[in-house]
Amino acid sequence: MLILGSHVSFNSKEQLLGSVREAISYGSNTFMFYTGAPQNTFRSKISFEKTSEAVKLMVDNNIEVKNIVAHSPYIINLANDKDEEKYNFSINFLIEEVKRCSEMKIKYLVLHPGSHVGLGIDKGINNIIKALNIVNKQNDSVVILLETMAGKGTEIGSNFFELKKIIDGVEDKSKIGICLDTCHLNDSGYDIENFDSLLDEFNQIIGIDYIRCVHINDSKNISGSKKDRHENFGYGTIGFDTLINIVYNKRLENIPKILETPWIGEKAPYKEEIEMIKNKKFNEKLKEIV
Ligand code: FE
Ligand code: FE
Ligand code: ZN
Repeated sequence: MLILGSHVSFNSKEQLLGSVREAISYGSNTFMFYTGAPQNTFRSKISFEKTSEAVKLMVDNNIEVKNIVAHSPYIINLANDKDEEKYNFSINFLIEEVKRCSEMKIKYLVLHPGSHVGLGIDKGINNIIKALNIVNKQNDSVVILLETMAGKGTEIGSNFFELKKIIDGVEDKSKIGICLDTCHLNDSGYDIENFDSLLDEFNQIIGIDYIRCVHINDSKNISGSKKDRHENFGYGTIGFDTLINIVYNKRLENIPKILETPWIGEKAPYKEEIEMIKNKKFNEKLKEIV
């Protein structure tokens, strides 16, 4: 089954209930959200009532709670332990995120592996492993999904070998997985047009079963640019046909596919993009929706 949705907002008042309503308005059967602003650490207390209402609304609209994905904030950097206080802050904040997810029955939490900021890839990877093992001591149900990165600056996780090393170091394999991001794969230099060979390569190095989520974004830049700038579905260098092939790839069936494409002016494009994907027909007027 096609499990398709987008990034949606999460506000302190309506919480998950607001996110579910937004997802339904786009015609989605899944969604991804930040438990608060992605760039800061202010977080509201999770309301039991709002969560129950949200779960009920999901059940009524054929949204399976197990397909919902949360994304942790960018400020968490598990790779950098130069400043011990900041490193511990990242670890503790991730522990809190995991707890919030589990209070909301969310199974998947996407995480950017981190940037080594000059410490070197090996040291960065060791820091990430150490941190994840600490976090998982207090994590009883959430699967942390390492996102494939574009390779901007000193980002770790822009190739499968680095991600494999992290997974190898994580003691509890039931708490770790991968989130593919098509824009990032392209920007890091993978040949996304030959997606089946890319999956073969992934399967050989990491194992395809680790893939639990796919971010389906087009890219503003060419393969290998290491830029990470998302473009609307079918409007970038990856293109409509290649992205459609990825969305409907048999080996990734039943894996949530999430749009993180840019807004068009003041408007979220997700309803229209989801329609395009369901119809497998490119909408050349998408950018005129404002
Ligand atoms: Fe991300
Ligand atoms: Fe992403
Ligand atoms: Zn990105």
